[in-house]
Order: sequence, then structure tokens, then C-alpha cells
Amino acid sequence: MSLLDVSSFAAGQWIAPGAGARNIASAITGEVIAQAGNDTLNVQGMLDYARSVGGPSLRKMTFHDRARMLKALAGHLNQHKQALYDLSFNTGATQSDHMIDIDGGIGTMFVFASKGRREMPDGHVYLDGDVEQLSRNGTFLGQHICTPLQGVAVHINAFNFPVWGMLEKLAPTLLAGVPAIVKPATATCYVTELAVRLMLESGILPDGALQLVSGGLGDMLDQLGMQDVVSFTGSAETALKLRANPVILRNSVRFVAEQDSLNASILGPDAQPGTPEFDLFVKEVSREMTTKAGQKCTAIRRIIAPESQIEAVIAALSERLAKTQIGDPRLEGTRMGALVSNAQKRDVMEKAAIIGQEATRVFGDPERFDVTGADAAKGAFVPPMLYHCEAPDTAERVHDTEAFGPVSTIMGYRDLDHAIALANRGQGSLVASVITHDPAVAREVAIGAGAYHGRLYFNNRDSMKESTGHGSPLPHMVHGGPGRAGGGEEMGGVRGVKHYMQRTAIQGSPDILSAIGEKWVPGGTEIEGPAHPFTRKFGELAVGETLHTAPRTVTLEDIETFAHFTGDTFYAHMDDEAAKRNPFFPGRVAHGYLLLSFAAGMFVQPDEGPVLANTGLDNLRFMKPVAAGDSIKVRLSVKKKTPRNDEYGEVRWHVTLTNQDDEIAAEYELLTMNAY
Ligand code: NDP
Repeated sequence: MSLLDVSSFAAGQWIAPGAGARNIASAITGEVIAQAGNDTLNVQGMLDYARSVGGPSLRKMTFHDRARMLKALAGHLNQHKQALYDLSFNTGATQSDHMIDIDGGIGTMFVFASKGRREMPDGHVYLDGDVEQLSRNGTFLGQHICTPLQGVAVHINAFNFPVWGMLEKLAPTLLAGVPAIVKPATATCYVTELAVRLMLESGILPDGALQLVSGGLGDMLDQLGMQDVVSFTGSAETALKLRANPVILRNSVRFVAEQDSLNASILGPDAQPGTPEFDLFVKEVSREMTTKAGQKCTAIRRIIAPESQIEAVIAALSERLAKTQIGDPRLEGTRMGALVSNAQKRDVMEKAAIIGQEATRVFGDPERFDVTGADAAKGAFVPPMLYHCEAPDTAERVHDTEAFGPVSTIMGYRDLDHAIALANRGQGSLVASVITHDPAVAREVAIGAGAYHGRLYFNNRDSMKESTGHGSPLPHMVHGGPGRAGGGEEMGGVRGVKHYMQRTAIQGSPDILSAIGEKWVPGGTEIEGPAHPFTRKFGELAVGETLHTAPRTVTLEDIETFAHFTGDTFYAHMDDEAAKRNPFFPGRVAHGYLLLSFAAGMFVQPDEGPVLANTGLDNLRFMKPVAAGDSIKVRLSVKKKTPRNDEYGEVRWHVTLTNQDDEIAAEYELLTMNAY
């Protein structure tokens, strides 16, 4: 069989393997199937190309342009995923493992595409938080902004998720506006290479936005500067070596690391055998042990159960694990494939032996297990192995040794504090889960263990049907953890995009802030439009365009009519004496909703026109009560415009209601959809 040549993509050229290329073996047969790497790769040229060609093109686009690009990329990969599945079986992964890696990666990209459109502006500057009042009269304000880094993101990925591992980093990077150089782990880089090829061939990406290093990275890290980011997933040992690079330290290059993790799962004290939680626990643990043959950064390595339940858990878990059919991942009945390589198998067995010094193996014998459809002696097959540690307080290795395969250790706890202490002995993990139906248990764990874990996953009979699984990092939620887990953070929605941007504090006048943020700030110049703003199309309205209404006096009759019409006869509106006893009111006052309704009546232009719909209010505050006899007027300003589709865009209006003394009675943001 001819070897698969896994190329790199550098400065617009595919570079085939050459001097120093490494061999890659099939996980199933152990035979060499591919080669990757070329010592002559011009890494400086790649960095230059990303910085001078990819970065500028990406930064010209708005967040929405880039979000649309991600959606198109994800759609393209989705159409071609069968080719990725076919190739990926060689890594030892089953079809359900592919769903996590390939479909999961594509899904992650879709989520970032959608978050980019919904939660980020159609502009070049992301506003982080609200305007800060830095002065008494509001002529000097503060605002935090984020803009894309002007360097390159170097993504160094682990072998276990050749597609998801790339896309979960690539999506937020590209959305931020930063070009990426992806360096997959050599063991599975042929799958990543195909995914990169598909993305590049789609023509969706601008030149220089994505490059690929298959094989060694050369001295790329020695060439990085302060605008670059390294985002790493892999072993703690490699992370330490790379983050200690003097150039990275000297130039304060951002280094995001996601490394080893001794994730725990706790069986709640309430989850006795016979409860839905007990069964759920056994199911989740066995799934986490066997999915991807345990080669998951989030897999459950430590099973923490009440001492009184240890025997029951071992029995139930063993029964379930015994049903795991191991074999060629292409076969339909296979539940667990092979480890990625025989080197990885040796590593897992060495680590299992270390764990074995403090724990007894109670399930799984690596010398005696069935493998279907493949040669167990040649492929990297191992059975699920369950260890029992009887003295978890004095044990060390079970809390610090990650056997990156289907290996877990069960240990007993005396009470919940003990369970929390054991979970925290991992010294920082990506995820810990608790299977409990008792909210008080969940709260205690959240407070006691939150600081040690990047994610806490609670599951029980109420959520189990829809829950996403202990081991699934979701694009919406933070993935990463403190301490041993690397101290980094990825994803978490827009938070993950910010890792590739610089946050800058901006201070200045309202007009300066309005111009920078493309969003009108109260106190900024008000633009008088040529006609009522409701008669103006989306494209015609200017940010800052403002309407001032005539005043309207609020009468007692208005208040009573509104009260009886709506049924809101709350005493503050109806009973003067009772209202006076309330520290907020001088006596009877108008309903807040009456004021909002009057405001609309004062600022709308009723004719059919470009305003299509009122889609909501944000940040509503009633600041000063309005009593009968007071008069109110409204200022309506265009705060921000966001195109939504080919027909209409969203206009965010800043609305301020003031009384006869120019005191603010109410303030809010009104959202409308306006035709182009
Ligand atoms: P490694 O740390 O060996 O490799 C991770 C990545 O770093 C790979 O892309 C690797 O490339 C690259 N790399 C290694 N050395 C260098 C270097 N000197 N310069 C630049 N890049 C380098 O991890 P593996 O993926 O091989 O996995 C090994 C172990 O890592 C597992 O057994 C497990 O313990 C842990 N791991 C933990 C994960 C987690 O998130 N908790 C996830 C995956 C793995 P190359 O392959 O070419 O050497």
C-alpha cells in the first residue's frame, strides 16, 4: 500500500513531506500508513504571510462578515464529512467517536457563527461592558473595547480530536479576526490535513487566514512576538517546555494551555442503588471510560462514591463495561476502538501500572480480552480497566497520574466534605460531575470545589434526558481548568473570542466614545434628521439622530383609567395615604407602564413606514416617580444599527423620559426592526 503523504500548507503552497518526515501507523493494524513533516518548511515565511496577508484581510471584515464566513465553512465541511469519517477510522475511532470529533467540531463552528451574528456587532470594535461614568456631568466617560490582535494564532493540538481540536480553536480565532497556523499532533494529522484541505478548497477563506504544519513545528515559537498567541492542547510536560520558551516569556506571548486533567465524578450521597441517579452515574462513568477509548481530556479518571456504595458501583459498572465490544472501529457492533498508536498503548499501560501501586484492578485484564475483527497483537487495543483505591487519602498517584486511555479509579468517601476534598486532590481539572437529586449537595460542591474545576456538571432524573454528557465541552461554556489542567480557558461563547483580541480601556468625551464604538453614547452630539425618524429607512438613519417630543401632562384621570383598564390597581397608584407610607413615593404616582405607553404615543409616527416591528426593550430603569400634574417629554436617539438580513436591520434606540424639571423619570433601549 502506498503511503499517504500528509502535506503542510505554507504561504499559499502545499508542501509535501520531505527531510525529517515522521511515519504514522494505523491504530488498528500498526502498519505505517502515512508520513508527515519537512524540515525545510519556511516557518518564518508562514508567520510573515499570516501577519501581512491573512491578518489585514480578516481585519477588514466585520464580526458579522467573519461569522458568515464561519457558517459557510461549517456548511462546507458538513457536506464532506463522510470523507473525514472514512479516513478517521485509522485513528482507532468508532463512528460514534467521529460524531464527537467531526460533527462536534462542525457544530462548534456553527455555534460561533451564530453567536458572532447575535452577540457581536456588525463592526470592527467589540464593546466589553457598559460605559463607565467617570465625571459628574458626563463629559468624560470610560468604555472597554476589544480589537483583534495583529499577529498570528499558533494552534498546537493533541492527537485525540483531529477535527474538533482544530475547529474549537479556529472558530473563535477567525471570528476575532486573527489568522491561524494549525499544528495538529502528528499521530492523527492526516485527518486534520483533509479538513484543512476542504476548508481551503472551498474558497471561503481569505488568503493567509489558515495555514497548516504537518509534522514538526521547527523553530516557529522562537519567532513569535507580542501580538501572537499560542493555544496549546496536550501533555503537561510539553506545555511546560513550550511555555518556558524564553521568546514567549520575553515577549509576553499569550499562551493558552489545556493539558492533563484528573477529572472526577461524584455519586451524590442521596443516589442510592435503585434511584435513577445511581443508574445514571453508572451509565455516564462507563460511557466516559470507553468513548474514544478513554482518550478524552474530559474523561472521568476518578470515580468518587460513598464508601457504603463502593461494592454496588463496582458491580454495576463491571457489568456494563463487560458489554463493551472492542474491535475494528469500522464494524457496526464495535463500542470501543483502539488507542491511537502502540506508543500510546505502552504509555497507558505504564501509567496504569503506576496507578496499580496504590489501587487494585477490579475489572479488565489487558492480557485477556476479546477483540473483534482485528489483530489484538498488532493494533493498539486495550480493555476498559477499573481500579479500586482503598486509601484515597494517603494515595498520591491516583490523583496525579493520567492514564490517557480507558482507565479509571474508584474511591470511597465518608461524607460530602470528604468527597469534595478528594475531587480537589486532582489539583485542577477540566470538569467534575456530581450525580445528585439534592440541590443542597450541588450547592455545597459548587462552593467547595468550584475553584478547582473549570466546569461542574450536575445531572439527575430531571435533566438526564436532555443533558449533554460529563465529557462534552460545549461551545457556549468555558472549557479549560486551573492548575494541572493548564490554567487556560477556551470557548465559553464570546469569552473565547476575546482570547484573540486585546482589551483596551478607552477614556474620552461622549462623541469620542460614540465614534470608536459605533454606538451613540448619551451626552454625545444629537443629530437632527430631515424628517421624523420613523419615516426614515434603516440606511437613511444616522447614529445619533434624535427626536425630542412635545411635553404631555399626566393627570389623575390618566392614572385611574390605566389602572382600571389594565387591572393594575396597586396601592401606590390608587391610595394616596398608603403610597405616602412607602419610602419610594411622595403619594399616588403613575404606573411605570403607563409612562412607557405614553412615551410610545409621543414618539411614534403612526403611518405605515419603514419601522416594521417593536422587538423589545433593554435596560429599563424607572428613576424618578411621576405624579399627577407632572409633565413628561421624551428624547429618542438612534443608538446603534445592526443589519439582520436582506430586508431589514435592527435599530437600537436610546429613550429618555424627563419631567418638567429635566430629571430623568425613566430610561431604556428600544429595539425595532426597520426596512432598508
Ligand atoms: P503532546 O504533549 O506530546 O503533544 C501535543 C502537541 O504538541 C502535539 O501537536 C505535538 O506535536 C506538539 N509538540 C510536542 N512537542 C513539541 C515541541 N517541542 N514543539 C512544538 N510542538 C510540540 O501530547 P499528545 O497529543 O501526544 O498526547 C500525549 C499526552 O497528553 C496524553 O497521553 C495525555 O496524557 C495528554 N493529553 C491531555 C489532553 C488534555 O486536554 N487533558 C488532551 C490530549 C492529550 P507532535 O505530535 O508532532 O509531537
